[in-house]
Amino acid sequence: MKITEVGKRGVVFTFDDLSTEDMEAPTNVFVIIGEKHIFICDTFLGPGSMVGVKEYLKEYSDKTIIIFNSHYDWDHHWGNCAFPDTRIYSHHLTRDKILEEGEKSLETYKKFQRGEITITPPNTVFYNAMSFIDEKVDIFHSPGHTEDSSSCFDLESNVLFVGDNVEDPIPYIRSDLEGVAEYVETLELYYMLEFDKLIPGHGPIADKKLLKQNLDYLKHFPELEKPIDLKKLGKPYYHIHLHNLSTLAEELSKKEQYEDAIKYYQQVVELGKKFELINADSIKRVKGKIEEIKKAMS
Ligand SMILES: [Zn+2]
Repeated sequence: MKITEVGKRGVVFTFDDLSTEDMEAPTNVFVIIGEKHIFICDTFLGPGSMVGVKEYLKEYSDKTIIIFNSHYDWDHHWGNCAFPDTRIYSHHLTRDKILEEGEKSLETYKKFQRGEITITPPNTVFYNAMSFIDEKVDIFHSPGHTEDSSSCFDLESNVLFVGDNVEDPIPYIRSDLEGVAEYVETLELYYMLEFDKLIPGHGPIADKKLLKQNLDYLKHFPELEKPIDLKKLGKPYYHIHLHNLSTLAEELSKKEQYEDAIKYYQQVVELGKKFELINADSIKRVKGKIEEIKKAMS
């Protein structure tokens, strides 16, 4: 775990438990040391992950801890149970989704659990936003990465924690184009906020530059803003783009918009082949999906 102090009163705890040989996936827990409260944004993989955080916070034992969950994904709330008798805030959809899927994802991803986990959903929810006025901290609904995604803004030191809404180099899309339009609105709202540092749920501490890169990408999706330039943006950028096109095709196919679904799967095959972005097995798999859809159409 790496500890980085940010701004006047922020601390980022960065964990590498989810990184693999092929992919780095550092995960951040963001903490604001307020006047009377300590805000902990996301709690990662369990009480085991929270040991170092609690140790760091020992010297502030006169302050009350407040937890904030940015969204319902398992890698952001498993450590909630390390804080009994604590106010845990989230958007109401986050609580609903954790109640719905928490146990199931604990079973699916149990090899990642750190310490004994009791799924602990947030016990205080908001609908649009909440302001801790004395502490100059706002939490607000910011749908994008997921429908329930929320953010935390430290107005005192101008640091914005965005959960998984901003990613390096570009975001993973998990919705259809309606969801993408909502995602763009959220990032445009971020852009209007006066912040100096942006803390993503995963990846290095960033600023408006990364936000703009994410926003430009989403605004043009499913098209690319510029012709492919592997040297400039690197393969991972385009890997994620192909992944996003596949997700879009899958969503469209669910809605029986078969022709468009085929169109985007075909783009995956074409771009994948032309720029050697995916291997033969993956191409075969995508082609199989196109065949399945054609069958469903006939
Ligand atoms: Zn995540």
